[in-house]
Amino acid sequence: MSLNFICSLNPARVVFACGALDRVAEELRALGCARALVLSTPFQEQDAQALAQSLGAQAVGVFAGAAMHTPVEVTDQAMQVYAETGADCVIALGGGSTIGLGKAIAWRNDCPQLVIATTYAGSEVTPVLGQTEEGVKTTLRDARVLPETVIYDPNLTLGLPVAMSVTSGLNAMAHAIEGLYAQNKNPVASMMAVDGVRALKQALPAIVRRPEDATARGEALYGAWLCGTVLGSVGMALHHKLCHTLGGSFGLPHAETHSVMIPHTAAYNAQAAAEDLKPLADMFGGDLGKGLWDFAKELGAPMALRDLGLAEADLDRAADLAVKNPYWNPRPVERQAIRALLQAAWEGHRP
Ligand code: NAD
Repeated sequence: MSLNFICSLNPARVVFACGALDRVAEELRALGCARALVLSTPFQEQDAQALAQSLGAQAVGVFAGAAMHTPVEVTDQAMQVYAETGADCVIALGGGSTIGLGKAIAWRNDCPQLVIATTYAGSEVTPVLGQTEEGVKTTLRDARVLPETVIYDPNLTLGLPVAMSVTSGLNAMAHAIEGLYAQNKNPVASMMAVDGVRALKQALPAIVRRPEDATARGEALYGAWLCGTVLGSVGMALHHKLCHTLGGSFGLPHAETHSVMIPHTAAYNAQAAAEDLKPLADMFGGDLGKGLWDFAKELGAPMALRDLGLAEADLDRAADLAVKNPYWNPRPVERQAIRALLQAAWEGHRP
């Protein structure tokens, strides 16, 4: 391979440690912030309140209304609370939904963001924001959206339910897999991608066996950081296009959809991207698509789109949407082949 690349990794400060939650106050000071608005989903509100309490005067309020796909009306409410409380930054405590809300606020007022990531989705290290307005999801990429400081504390993931840990982990792997054959791939992102998948491949079975295994939780979160960084640094292809279509137009759940689709999309691109994917194919027994499918099944992941609520009658429209304005992909995106891929994923066949 002759080297020819542009590499621009995103500048975020990452603090990674068991117990790193205790460092929020000093990290806020390092950001030059004194009045944080703490964000969470309703489900994580208690944790957000406890964090705000522990920060004393450094926290001016909690907004616990974050929701999947960053609805604009929720952001508008949060903006109002931000103004009323006189906040000077946000702390997003949670997964992609909460982080999305923090990004949406920063997109509007350029406030600093400190993120405490508690899933493996990786949004905390990307300059990408997806928002929904009247049911339509749009995505933008802007440096303002990238969080300034990210805290990873594996202790906060000990209670992430096993099913979510598995699908969120496979979601992270999907970022790395697509990063390896991205049109703008680069050697640093590829190193991160391979090590990220390695870490998650090692950690997820251990988490399924023992969810409170702090070492495995640390390994998974480390893998999620690497995979998220890949997502934020290089372009995504067929897999992400299909998942965005299924999530955006058919309301399928984010992590579960990635988890069902990744063996099929990896198999679709296996030949065309054989050289780029070789380290992962080797890791998964020689055939990446089949190896990923077996791995997901062993972990108890959902295996079929039909189990996620997609009707068979929707497959034609999903294929039409997916081939319209396709993302760049190493193998041409052909309607008939995509329709067959979707059928196999809907039925849950081994690719
Ligand atoms: P999520 O943030 O929606 O979390 C799902 C649920 O799990 C929530 O109720 C949350 O409060 C709860 N939860 C989170 N962490 C927990 C923990 N440690 N213990 C117990 N419960 C916990 O799920 P997600 O998969 O992290 O995020 C999905 C969203 O993020 C989607 O909207 C997706 O589009 C977006 N996303 C964006 C990017 C990006 O770069 N812009 C990247 C990945 C995902």
